[in-house]
Amino acid sequence: MTIASTDAAVSRIQRPRLWGIARYVAGTRAEHFEISWDDIERDTDWATGLLADYGIGAHRYVIVVSLTPLAPWSRPFELALRRLGAVICPTDAYRFDARRTSMFARGRPSPTMVLGLEDEVTAGLDDLDGGLSAQIGAMPSVLARPSTHARLAAAGIDPYCFTPLGAATAVECHARGGVHVNSAEWAVESIDGELHLTTVADRAHRLDGAPTGARGRVEQGTCACGRTDVRVVFETVDAGSEEGR
Ligand SMILES: [Zn+2]
Repeated sequence: MTIASTDAAVSRIQRPRLWGIARYVAGTRAEHFEISWDDIERDTDWATGLLADYGIGAHRYVIVVSLTPLAPWSRPFELALRRLGAVICPTDAYRFDARRTSMFARGRPSPTMVLGLEDEVTAGLDDLDGGLSAQIGAMPSVLARPSTHARLAAAGIDPYCFTPLGAATAVECHARGGVHVNSAEWAVESIDGELHLTTVADRAHRLDGAPTGARGRVEQGTCACGRTDVRVVFETVDAGSEEGR
């Protein structure tokens, strides 16, 4: 048996319809949703375009902060990084694992992006020598949840937004024109200040005006980056979508 023969054998196994089942919390209610392999494939297509616009390409080093429960939101971006030929530096979204993020951030070659920074690792990095500024202040692109932005800004870092939004992912583009949600997959509306999601594409789990727990408003029109995706403007620093760690 070789790697090639193993790959060939695996390719003949019928793939299950579902990639996985995930969970997020909207307000006080936990919601579960199914994700198909086709969903992941289309999400990866969208992620690839966004990351390419950030200048991510072959041999770029990118730190990805995630966990298995966060994979529904981070996995398409990891697959996109692979497609682009980038090198993934994986770290866990736990405070104690901030040292691994620090090791990658201060290593060589220098990573050009940290993707998925959340409260735990942000706080952990702030505890290390020199704080956030010394740890990731030189990173060209910091993609982080809204709940971290004030802390990052206090360290002189100007982050981009990357956050779960219910079952969807909201990502700021390189042009800083807004925080995009893939309009080929989702419709977003703000009802009494809360963002609600409706599935547009044939996703494994259909939603019809599902509350996300996140507060904000919606902007339409063409972004500075050229995309016509809907853009969200979060009302508070808390995106409100915690996926149950
Ligand atoms: Zn944009």
